[in-house]
Amino acid sequence: MGHNLLVLEGDGIGPEIVAEAVKVIDRLCSHHGFQASVEYGLIGGAGIDSVGSPLPEETLECARLSDAILLGAVGGIEWDGLERHLRPEQGLLRIRTSLDLFANLRPAILYPSLTDTSTLKPEVVSGLDILIVRELTGGIYFGHPRGISELDDGEKQGFNTLTYRESEIERIARVAVDIASKRSAKLCSVDKANVLEVSELWRGKVTEVCDAIGGVSLNHMLVDNAAMQMIREPRQFDVIVTDNMFGDILSDVAAMLTGSIGMLPSASLNSRNQGMYEPVHGSAPDMAGKGIANPIATILSVAMMLRYSLEEPDLADKVEAAVQRVLDDGARTADLGGSMSTAAMGDAIVGQL
Ligand code: NAD
Repeated sequence: MGHNLLVLEGDGIGPEIVAEAVKVIDRLCSHHGFQASVEYGLIGGAGIDSVGSPLPEETLECARLSDAILLGAVGGIEWDGLERHLRPEQGLLRIRTSLDLFANLRPAILYPSLTDTSTLKPEVVSGLDILIVRELTGGIYFGHPRGISELDDGEKQGFNTLTYRESEIERIARVAVDIASKRSAKLCSVDKANVLEVSELWRGKVTEVCDAIGGVSLNHMLVDNAAMQMIREPRQFDVIVTDNMFGDILSDVAAMLTGSIGMLPSASLNSRNQGMYEPVHGSAPDMAGKGIANPIATILSVAMMLRYSLEEPDLADKVEAAVQRVLDDGARTADLGGSMSTAAMGDAIVGQL
């Protein structure tokens, strides 16, 4: 029986980069015994323009029934004027919460042949391989009460609420400890426990989970120090677990250590290992329609999908090895300092498969 995949191209460069990732999936089917049925759905601005919703009900229904979802990116200036709850990004937030995709995995790997594209010195970053496990459905982005109110003196005040339940911390800690045990057995939990009560709870719960499972050495770091250490000596980290907002910021810092945002995949998983896989970057309206975007982040997202949702680790290795080989051979899109087109990069990777 084949895997059930839902593909959501989205906006901007979304359709262009997803097309290359689908070529890779097709190649796995035709040459490597992979079995999958691929359905397409609307999300983001494409959903708004077609049926007036950034997450049409039909898309959500298909998503619920799928084993994994591959997403391009959403958003663009065409929809920037809409009210917040109608914007393309709401489609993403809703699909994450509807499927309870609480664990966001963001690897930052520096490929040997791209060492020079990092803004840090080669002796600091070469061989970098970090995985950030970010809590994705809780914390300050979702907390209530929230809003902008007017105070008695007429001045306006904005407010958001940071909350985490023990169960939310426990489940993300379990994912992180499990992944760390399959890598170097080293886990760093990042919080702000010197100031925030939520972080105090976070620190205690992560320690408890780690002790209960065993086999992984845990250290805690305050988020300001973690940001500094990531630039000073990034290779001290292997797996990092942190909350939604800290993870949002730190994973972008880690991303830039690797040179181009066009290289970075991500996964968002629920407790059944159903997942949504997408590049870290957005819809790059400045590049859309030109055929010059780097499709590697999306293709590496397919590799993560094979590894984390579809239990096809050998195929995941094959895709990652194919990417590494084309880079070693000098293939470069514009963001990596070359002139290769999106389709040519996709074809080169497919050729290696
Ligand atoms: P962006 O990630 O789209 O672009 C930032 C820069 O990186 C741009 O210069 C772009 O050309 C470049 N870039 C991005 N992807 C690339 C690729 N594959 N290859 C080469 N270069 C690439 O971020 P932005 O410009 O801040 O946002 C553009 C739109 O994307 C906005 O509407 C934003 O809301 C949306 N967005 C969506 C997501 C998502 O769908 N997950 C994430 C971030 C931003």
